[in-house]
Amino acid sequence: MSLITLFLSLLLTQLDLVVVERAFFVMGTILEFELYCENKKSCNDAVFEAYSEVKRLDDMLSNYKPDSDLSKLNSVAGKRAVVVPEEFFDITRRSIYFSRITNGAFDITVGELVRLWKESESKNVIPDENTVKKIVSECVGFDKIMLYPRERKVFFNSSCLSIDFGGIGKGYAVDRVVGILRERGIRRGIVNFGGNIYAMGSPVGKSAWRIGIRDPWNKDKVISYIEISDMAVSTSGDYERYFEIKGRRFSHIIDPRSGFPVSGVHSVTVLAKSATEVDALSTAISVMGIEKGAEFVDRLSSVGVMMVAGDSKSALVYRNDAFKKFELNHALNNP
Ligand code: AMP
Ligand code: MG
Repeated sequence: MSLITLFLSLLLTQLDLVVVERAFFVMGTILEFELYCENKKSCNDAVFEAYSEVKRLDDMLSNYKPDSDLSKLNSVAGKRAVVVPEEFFDITRRSIYFSRITNGAFDITVGELVRLWKESESKNVIPDENTVKKIVSECVGFDKIMLYPRERKVFFNSSCLSIDFGGIGKGYAVDRVVGILRERGIRRGIVNFGGNIYAMGSPVGKSAWRIGIRDPWNKDKVISYIEISDMAVSTSGDYERYFEIKGRRFSHIIDPRSGFPVSGVHSVTVLAKSATEVDALSTAISVMGIEKGAEFVDRLSSVGVMMVAGDSKSALVYRNDAFKKFELNHALNNP
């Protein structure tokens, strides 16, 4: 076969691909697929397997389900060590790794703080500083998690410590989903799990997927477009999920060191190869804020970041070079 016929037959098989779009509600958010497959059935089968995988992860990592491995572990905090599934152990270990490299800005031990802020929302009272401080010193801190790799056991050095995988679980699920889709031969598609996106290959006839980054002050507006292929992107924002107390909005992201919800940065978008990594880092950088966040990403190679702070009339937008490389145009013009 000549090169030209090879190219043409390759192009024809690509043009034959069908597009399948599906969405599910799982882990408290929407899991969306847009996939290119050889036929509808292969896409549907792959989507079903991927969705089942996310449900399996939810059964393991959820802190809403009383029977999840996480809930079982949280319920014996400070009392005894628990043997956990290998995957659970790995996710915990990776979460601690992100705590270390972010100087504690990312910390899955925020569980008790999240509970306090939720309770404060339902009572409509801002928690007093002493209560917050007490929880921070007694119930929070990744160094209070003891890992015993040989026995695959986990022990909490505090009886009020509680793990919350909300800042990393969806990203991890996206990486697993992409693995399944690839195993099934899917090379082109988009997976979006509540703002944690993976772009596989590109749409037919194009070199990359175009993804819009939302304006944190106006959900229907896009402030920037990026074009990516075989990359993950995650946005953490204070505009979609928040606690509302006495008419004031508080971000759902909490600084584990102060115990208070973060303020100032409204959205952080991170771009890299792994969905787990970008999920953890977008949460962590939201805690760090623009200055420290920019310093932090400077030290990482090939991680793109865009942060939006300020207010709708005078937005402050920061993006590093690794981000600009994938950016299409700037709707907000800031240095
Ligand atoms: P994300 O939307 O990925 O930024 O994750 C936010 C969720 O992660 C929150 O709803 C909490 O469940 C949890 N969380 C809040 N603050 C932190 C933090 N500093 N580190 C890790 N997880 C956090
Ligand atoms: Mg996150």
